Amino acid sequence: MSKEAIENNELPKTNFLHQEIDKDLQQGKNNGKVLTRFPPEPNGYLHIGHAKSICLNFGLGNFYKGGTNLRFDDTNPTKEETEYVDSIMEDVKWLGFDWVGEPVYTSDYFQQLYDWAVLLIKAGKAYVDDQSADEIAAQKGTPTTPGQHSPYRDRSIEENLNLFERMKNGEFKNGERVLRAKIDMASPNMHMRDPLMYRIIHAHHHRTENEWCIYPMYDFAHGQSDFIEGITHSICTLEFEVHRPLYNWFLDQIIEADPKLKELPRTRQIEFARLNLNYTVMSKRRLLELVENKIVEGWDDPRMPTISGLRRRGYTPESIRVFADKVGVARRENIIDVSLLEHCIREDLNKRAPRVYAVIDPVKVVITNFPEGEVEWMEAGNNPEDESMGSRTLPFTREIYIEREDFMEGAPSKFFRMDVGREVRLKNAYIVKCEGITKDENGEITEIQCTYDPDTKSGMEGSNRKVKGTLHWVSVDHSKQITVKQYDRLFMDEAPAGHKDKDFKDFLNPDSLQQLNNCWIEPNFMDAGGEFEDGIKRFQFQRLGYFCLDKNSTEDHPIFNRTVSLKDSWSKQK
Ligand code: ATP
Ligand code: MG
Repeated sequence: MSKEAIENNELPKTNFLHQEIDKDLQQGKNNGKVLTRFPPEPNGYLHIGHAKSICLNFGLGNFYKGGTNLRFDDTNPTKEETEYVDSIMEDVKWLGFDWVGEPVYTSDYFQQLYDWAVLLIKAGKAYVDDQSADEIAAQKGTPTTPGQHSPYRDRSIEENLNLFERMKNGEFKNGERVLRAKIDMASPNMHMRDPLMYRIIHAHHHRTENEWCIYPMYDFAHGQSDFIEGITHSICTLEFEVHRPLYNWFLDQIIEADPKLKELPRTRQIEFARLNLNYTVMSKRRLLELVENKIVEGWDDPRMPTISGLRRRGYTPESIRVFADKVGVARRENIIDVSLLEHCIREDLNKRAPRVYAVIDPVKVVITNFPEGEVEWMEAGNNPEDESMGSRTLPFTREIYIEREDFMEGAPSKFFRMDVGREVRLKNAYIVKCEGITKDENGEITEIQCTYDPDTKSGMEGSNRKVKGTLHWVSVDHSKQITVKQYDRLFMDEAPAGHKDKDFKDFLNPDSLQQLNNCWIEPNFMDAGGEFEDGIKRFQFQRLGYFCLDKNSTEDHPIFNRTVSLKDSWSKQK
């Protein structure tokens, strides 16, 4: 995309949200301004579903040059923590986005929201209810039958004001009283049946500490927060569509009670379908369960669908942005195949990750006609997809490792790897011929003997002699020992959370982590490049897959996480 195209607003408008916003702009709404927001509740780490919402909201904010607010929806002190606030900021930045000014918090508006609640009471539009949550629920009715009025619905305004103030002053226990909107107990929209506005929670809040013991409900806070910030377009997931009339009702009452607010622009809410991925659970509640039960190592376990987990696994921000783009924005719920996400990271790393040599299940090969103690340095290109990534050298020696699975005794003719009497090419080195093997008392191969053909050095004349197989290898004396962690999907079921009588944890994949400690990598792998902009080092291990250095890795003891295999192995298996 050319710079001019961006400046002239000629980017492809890929989703219906652009069309809706364009309509508003054409009608001259908001003085041509567009301001979006991303409003996470800091009660967990962000996941790939949030990533889609981030790409969408920040994408629109950037596109229309109005920006995006990062707002922490912190109305429930018992579940929210600063650790989550920090992780959310880190994840949004890592994805490549920045918010307007400082992050904002719904708790910044607690006083304003309280004042508005008082306005509603004064207007006869809200009342304090002394009933328990169960009693209130029992009066709710069903979508087809009306609910019943609370016995406290017709309290006088004075009594309501007095009780609400005493709620605020901490005179009552949790759950003893609530503030409710007085709307319509017969409304076909259940959210309009006198919804709760405030509840009593005696708890320490991560920002306001012990200043408040009443907290606004999400529904009483969200629309007003958008309004206060001058958000022009509030992009929500579909489940909020039915809440929209309530958000509008609250604002209508507030503006009626305080007419000077009439001048301010009203937010427009537009809903889209949330991202669902198969083989994945995505609610923070369930992800927290995995963390608390130590089923995974933490929120950033590389098997988690969290942004921090994907990052530790080796995903790049670019691949996640491309994924968000590919899944698009729809008005109808659908389920995306997790292999699309894997496809996106493969494509990105194929272009950008340098190729290095590592053997993760080694068997020793002795090249009997290669002199002992001699080292021949072979040149290896760092990425055939991108010559500008240069090359490095590999030490070729008499003793090397190859993968155990690259040898088969008495192999069928279709097995294009090593067997006694056959020739294969060692990539970037020579053609070798297998002459014999040594086994231990259990029949396990302990050594393979080969001879090499000195006239077949890669890149030299004679090297174009064709053999069927090409293997990767590392020098026994020169390679470095590493730990490799291979991950598979965390769940074996396509919809682990979609079973009525089973817990999602019943579908955990017992083999989702395989740790290998007897693995060897070429000594110069760090010279191949591999350090990405986010500071994470990512590589392709030739023929094995894409790997990145883990956060716990050290120079003496490198630990690699497998990001993804070279090919989709699930599509064949299942
Ligand atoms: P969860 O249900 O997974 O715990 P949530 O919706 O409670 O998530 P919030 O912190 O309230 O999490 O979400 C912040 C924003 O991210 C919201 O605007 C929400 O609509 C959006 N979001 C959450 N999950 C998804 C998803 N799967 N796809 C798209 N957007 C999502
Ligand atoms: Mg939520």
